[in-house]
Amino acid sequence: MINNKVEFLKKQFPFLEKLIALTETNWFNPNVTSVKEALPYVGLTAEDVRDASARLERFAPFIANAFPETQSSNGLIESDVIDIANMKQALCANQTLDIPGRLMLKKDSHLPISGSIKARGGIYEVLTHAENLAIKSGLLNKTDDYQCLLNNSFKRFFSQYSITVGSTGNLGLSIGIISAKLGFSVTVHMSADARQWKKDRLRSLGVHVVEYNQDYGAAVCEARKQAENDASCYFIDDENSKTLFLGYSVAGERLKKQFDHLGIIVDQEQPLFVYLPCGVGGGPGGVAFGLKLAFGDHVHCIFAEPTHSPCMFLGVHTGLHDAISVQDIGIDNITDADGLAVGRASGFVGRAMERLIDGYCTISDESLYRYLGLLYKSENIALEPSALAGMHGLKAVVENSEYKTRMGLTEKVMENATHIVWATGGAMVPPEEMEKYLSQATI
Ligand SMILES: *Cc1c(COP(=O)(O)O)cnc(C)c1O
Repeated sequence: MINNKVEFLKKQFPFLEKLIALTETNWFNPNVTSVKEALPYVGLTAEDVRDASARLERFAPFIANAFPETQSSNGLIESDVIDIANMKQALCANQTLDIPGRLMLKKDSHLPISGSIKARGGIYEVLTHAENLAIKSGLLNKTDDYQCLLNNSFKRFFSQYSITVGSTGNLGLSIGIISAKLGFSVTVHMSADARQWKKDRLRSLGVHVVEYNQDYGAAVCEARKQAENDASCYFIDDENSKTLFLGYSVAGERLKKQFDHLGIIVDQEQPLFVYLPCGVGGGPGGVAFGLKLAFGDHVHCIFAEPTHSPCMFLGVHTGLHDAISVQDIGIDNITDADGLAVGRASGFVGRAMERLIDGYCTISDESLYRYLGLLYKSENIALEPSALAGMHGLKAVVENSEYKTRMGLTEKVMENATHIVWATGGAMVPPEEMEKYLSQATI
């Protein structure tokens, strides 16, 4: 982007100065609307989410058999939602914050199979592709017991096809693990910031890992190119995929069921706030879509990004979406939050969801580590740095009175609120790596 244009944008959007200065900041979008008004812009419907949910049900017997850790949930890939009252207390003391309501953690960090939120979207898209191929060749019927997919005949069938993806690490892990299990030939193009252990893990499963010394955008670009030249190769498009998005969105109805079970009510007087770490946007966007369908206007979603990678904030705030990158305004996209190191947001997600996301906030790596240490000390839960980003959204909501007044969120209502920090990764981090993270946690 040319300099002139950047200067013009800065005048038009004074907020950019704060992003460029890399200071932690937040913005609550004045243009959010009701679910009813916003839904037509999403381009996807409740029916699409039900279809995704039904597909995951069909695959559940296969998943339970192929990944024994999912047997207790009958082959559904789902995580717990738990109270973190000690963390709430620690946050109040550490930040002199007064947090009204109940604080909970959604442990996608501990999702079975790949230990991150990518176990929702990534695995779902590979399953969808496998089902489409097998049904088209007459090998599978939707009414079959999908445990048959474990047979060698299916492995041989899928081995004729390849799958490719670009990733900062976790998406590659999810796609690699499930694709290898089904028998696909799979290539993961890893950006420079991807952790060595993630590459090692994938190679041990027979996944082709190609490494780049550039960022996520470059890795995706190479993956796309690979598929363009090979008709049997399927490219998983993290920047634009509706299938990935729908895989994530099933989380909404699942959380609703968990809340019903726990007796947690969400309504006008008892709102729900959900804080989601955002990279390219598919994960948090899909989850937020599912949550809006499940809880309507009473759920408020806030996205959190590193100060060095605020791509969705930038794209939605300027209305330029994927026509602008953080590098265009001189931000380097270098952060320890590897799942969030994305310079250009998904245009599809930004345009689909901008009317439904209440706010955006940025967080420094230093704060990520501080929350990482606080959570470990107070709750004995260890997460990867990206997964802590949501904690800062909580602070933004607690501190911003303009937003709460505009949304009719009075003090009395806030006292009855439930806050969920969506923890997006961490369970598969090797102990020696986790030690390093914890040693950086200055509290
Ligand atoms: C990928 C990822 C996210 C964000 O998902 P996007 O679809 O990239 O926005 C958040 N946290 C972790 C740990 C991730 O791996």
